[in-house]
This record gives sequence, structure tokens and C-alpha cells, in this order.
Amino acid sequence: MLEEIQAKSILNATGGFLASYTHSLNAYQGCAFGKNSCPYCYVRAMPVQRYSGKVWGEWVKAKLNAPELLRQDLEKTRRKGQFGKLKIFMSTATDPYQGAEVRLQLTRKVLEVFASAGEFGLLVVQTRSPLIERDADVLARLGKRAWVSLTIETNREEIRRQITPASPSIERRLATLEKLTDAGLNVQAAISPVLPCDAEEFADLIAPRVSRAVVDTLIHGDGANGGRSTELGMPELLRRLGYEHWLEETAHLPLLEMLIRKMGVERVGFSQEGFNLLC
Ligand code: SF4
Repeated sequence: MLEEIQAKSILNATGGFLASYTHSLNAYQGCAFGKNSCPYCYVRAMPVQRYSGKVWGEWVKAKLNAPELLRQDLEKTRRKGQFGKLKIFMSTATDPYQGAEVRLQLTRKVLEVFASAGEFGLLVVQTRSPLIERDADVLARLGKRAWVSLTIETNREEIRRQITPASPSIERRLATLEKLTDAGLNVQAAISPVLPCDAEEFADLIAPRVSRAVVDTLIHGDGANGGRSTELGMPELLRRLGYEHWLEETAHLPLLEMLIRKMGVERVGFSQEGFNLLC
């Protein structure tokens, strides 16, 4: 269900997990990739969903005035002399490439505002959707100020089907990584949260396709030391599927080490520090 709304603000001061960024930007609220989408998604446990009275994955609100609000906010930061220091993470509580984006082009318009704005600090676009390929031209205009961070949790298609059945295939996402890198963009693979995978095979697929990779886990990356992942039923789900050893705190290490071996330590990050190293 899509609702088109007018928002009151668009750049929100951030902190916590993304402490090195100055603001988050969510041109959408909610996520309409389906109720079977991303069972680990911590937004499911946040007030925006808790008090929505709706099923997570089946609703999204589009902030139609997001590009105009952004133009105004960028102007304000320019007047305050903070423009060059802006470091923005888009998005923290939704995916900026919702299905509605095909028609509304809100994220594209937001990118165009950034591309015309001048020398701000940094923009990270976090998505799992191949639709971002459409905007490679605008992202290229942002040059080294922009990073694409694409979620890819495993190399194993059967795991993707079991755990995140509504998500784009592994093959499709690998193709997106490759296309964006070939287009000259800064591209990060966000293996977040890492799901059962084959360390060497996965690292071999990732290494040639990205500028950097960041690995995160259900324990380190949920902002509550695994508490939110437990609340969302992830340990139970992994146990039911027979992957209980992936609940161990060290389960991600073979992949992390393999990525470091193939890409070099300076191109691989882990959890909170890894996401903040872009700043
Ligand atoms: S795409 Fe992002 S916002 Fe949507 S359910 Fe998955 S993790 Fe959550």
C-alpha cells in the first residue's frame, strides 16, 4: 500500500551506530518489499512499525516534497557554513529504491539535488535493489563524494530463498555490483547481516566487483548486541533451518578473513566501524 505524503523535514541529525555521519535521509517511510522480506530488518522493531497498525513489508509512504525540502536544508547548512561537512546516509529506516520509485523517481530527484549542490562531504546510498542501476548517471556526477552500498548477505541462492525470499537473486545483485563498478562509481558490498555462506566462494565473487566490503552480523549490527535480532526471531529461524552454528559470535570470521586476504585490510570493514570508515 502506497501513501503519498508531504514531510515536515528530510535531513535528520544522526548518531549511534552511524556516529560519523551528520544526517540520515529517508525519502520513503516503511518498506513495501513484502512481508517475507528481510526477517532481520531492525526497523520492524522500531516505533515507526510498532505503532503503524500495519504489516511490515506491505506499506510505504512516499515523501513527495523530499527533493524540495532537501534543497532548502542544503541552503540552510550552506548559510551556517556546515555544507562541506555534510555526511549523509540514505537511508536508515527504509530502502530508497522501493517499487514506487520506478514511477515517482523521488530518490533520483534527491540525487539530482545533491549533484547540483556543490562540494558537500559524503553521500552513502544504501540499498539492496538493482533499480539503483537506473541512477548510475546521476551518481557519476557526484564523483568521489558518493558511495553505493549494496546489501548482499550470502552467496548461496538457496539461503536467500529460505530467509529473504522476496529479495533480488544473488546473481542479479552481483551483476548490479559489477555494472556500477564498471560505471566508475564507488561501490561497497554490504554483507549485512552475513547469512550462512561459503567464505572463499563468496569472497571470490565480491572481491573483483567492489571498491570495498563491509561485514556485519545479527549480533554486532542490530544496535542492541543481538537483542533486536532475538526479538525478531532470527535465532529461532536459523535453528529451524539447521544453521544454528551461524548464531555463534565468531561465525563471520572465515568470510572476513577471506575478504581481507583477497582485497587487503584497507578495503574491508567490520560492523559499526566498517560502515563509519567511509567518512
Ligand atoms: S529492504 Fe531494508 S528496509 Fe526493507 S525490509 Fe529489507 S532491510 Fe528492512
